[in-house]
Amino acid sequence: MTSLTKETKLTLLYIFIAFSFSVALRLIWTYQFGGYEAFKFNGQFMINTNDGYFWAEGARDILSGISQPNDLSPTTEAASQLTAFFAKILPISFESLILYMPVFLSSLVVVPIILIARGINNLEMGLIAALLASIAWSYYNRTMVGYYDTDMLNIVLPMFLLWTIIWAIQTKEEKYLLLAALDIVIYRWWYPQSYSLEFSFFGLILAYTLIFDRKNVYNYKLLAIMMFAMINVDGMIRLPIVVALYLAFKQVKLDKYVYVILGISAITFFSTGGLEPIWLRLKLYVFKDALVVGEQGLNLHFFSVMQTVREAGQIPFSEFANRISGHVITFVLSVVGFIYLAYRHKIMLFALPMIGLGFLASVGGLRFTIYAVPVLAFGVAFLITELATHMPTQKLKVLSMFAFTLAILYPNYKHIEGYKVPTVMNADEVKVLDSLKTIAHREDYVVAWWDYGYPIRYYADVKTLTDGAKHDGDVNFPVSFILTNPPAVAAKMARLDVEYTEKTFANAQQNRDKNLSTFSYVEQMTTDYGFKDTNDFLLSLETEIELPKKTRDIYFYLPFNMLNIYPTVTRFSYIDLMNGKEKAAPFYFISRSFRDVGSQIQLNQEVFMDKKTFTLTLGSKKITPKRFVKTLYDENMQLKKEMKIVDVNSNINIVYMSNYKTFLLLDEATYNSLYIQLMVLEEYDKNLFEKVAGNPHAKVYKLKI
Ligand code: MN
Repeated sequence: MTSLTKETKLTLLYIFIAFSFSVALRLIWTYQFGGYEAFKFNGQFMINTNDGYFWAEGARDILSGISQPNDLSPTTEAASQLTAFFAKILPISFESLILYMPVFLSSLVVVPIILIARGINNLEMGLIAALLASIAWSYYNRTMVGYYDTDMLNIVLPMFLLWTIIWAIQTKEEKYLLLAALDIVIYRWWYPQSYSLEFSFFGLILAYTLIFDRKNVYNYKLLAIMMFAMINVDGMIRLPIVVALYLAFKQVKLDKYVYVILGISAITFFSTGGLEPIWLRLKLYVFKDALVVGEQGLNLHFFSVMQTVREAGQIPFSEFANRISGHVITFVLSVVGFIYLAYRHKIMLFALPMIGLGFLASVGGLRFTIYAVPVLAFGVAFLITELATHMPTQKLKVLSMFAFTLAILYPNYKHIEGYKVPTVMNADEVKVLDSLKTIAHREDYVVAWWDYGYPIRYYADVKTLTDGAKHDGDVNFPVSFILTNPPAVAAKMARLDVEYTEKTFANAQQNRDKNLSTFSYVEQMTTDYGFKDTNDFLLSLETEIELPKKTRDIYFYLPFNMLNIYPTVTRFSYIDLMNGKEKAAPFYFISRSFRDVGSQIQLNQEVFMDKKTFTLTLGSKKITPKRFVKTLYDENMQLKKEMKIVDVNSNINIVYMSNYKTFLLLDEATYNSLYIQLMVLEEYDKNLFEKVAGNPHAKVYKLKI
């Protein structure tokens, strides 16, 4: 038995220290919320990222073996498959698994960081960089406990690839050929968008080979095996190809064919459409405005989600720096340090694609900053270790490293301490969905705004019309229409939208090979009901029309929290689909911090309500409301209402939700919307709706037509 070298022992020790540190700091959140029951379900904390419920649904269905056609459950996606695998082998609850997976998987990033540093004989730099990178601001935000999303491995996997590439170039050992190819296959499996980074690494190695090391056959082997790992075919086909190629490369007598093999790999890459994803991405960005839904049909104009997302414009430098290094000074030192590091150790230039992608954040959005975190951490860590070498005594050397490391970690620790993000759902909302699970069938639909799509599907095991991925203007339109129109009209649209959704799935299935152009559901409805103008069709919903045959039940999930986003919800249907003109936004005002100021209630700085006459004062304007409604729950948690009609000609209504400590000022259309009528007032036609579940946080109604 060979005993480990001192260096290997130290490497393992540093990995152990950095990994434990990364895990421990991620547990601060659980410690802070320890006894907070509103964040828990089944005795465990819930997750705090919406998209996580998508992977959780897939894993749940893999484990149960039940998933229906068109339920949009990601049973073939890597994150769900890995979760299901862990669920089978680990003796912990599913809720605990998805909560803690990001903690342990993202902390693995310390391994390649320390190994890369070992490659340039500076283990201390590796330890310092690993400590910083594992908890740096943006990396922490996207891999904290409960942040159950692909981010948990999105940096770990390319860092392993970088480590493999660096060690491959340094050692020219054959095993790194296989490792590099396997890294790519796994990374692509985990995150299909990974090609851009893989391709950049490939380009750098190619440039390095042509400029500095043209004669070395090893480099061409590395390029060929990486290219085969990147071809555009299923991972289960690429895996045996790269293993076979690795075995072939071990035969020295085949060395003379390496250029032929590289040529074949390039031809295979291009002929399988390896460049296609990059080309597609370009098309999406460059020609994004050219995509119109229903080109040959009515040419409807839907509201684009992009219009509601804050433009990714100029990010302030300090925020950018904070997110990468935790502090502006650390960031500047990191950049300077990395330049110095790359000057002293040219091999570190292979890390440039990671920095490049990180700096894309300045144009592509903050989520890219995490790519630069580990590589720039090397920069400041290198400066710290360089400084230490100039210390006169060993004691001072250690002490200085310790002090400077603490200094760069501290701002990140402060960030973690203050970053108390809530769970996506609260316990009461989930209780409603959990009881809906026993009421609704798997094939039934729940109508809700897209934000709630994934959690609804995970907790209630039903289908939804929209979710975190399916929320373009054309699918959001009907849901927005349903939530913001009067219940009687909304009921018809709900039946129509669900049946058209299912019908379109079925048609797509039958005409799989025909490549039919698909029209939006609203457009299909318009044509089917014999209209040429969608506005006429929508108006006809106020009359008696014949609805499609009912194939399943429909439920409405109406959370109290939706009050905050109601104006956003309206935007998707407050639009003339024929010409794209947006309609005037609703009058919608919400106040949670009102106070009694004698004869009036002050709702905010400028808005007052007279306690006797209910007359509103908005700045210099006086408005008499149509109604004043006060809601409250009695001792049996039944909603009671007191209503006073003040001025029938007014268009403004006041709703005082006393138990919620919330005042609403609503125009007549908003007051009459399905959401306000069913959620806030519990006012509905018993022939159309039935309340089937709920508490003050969320209510569920069943459609009776
Ligand atoms: Mn399902």
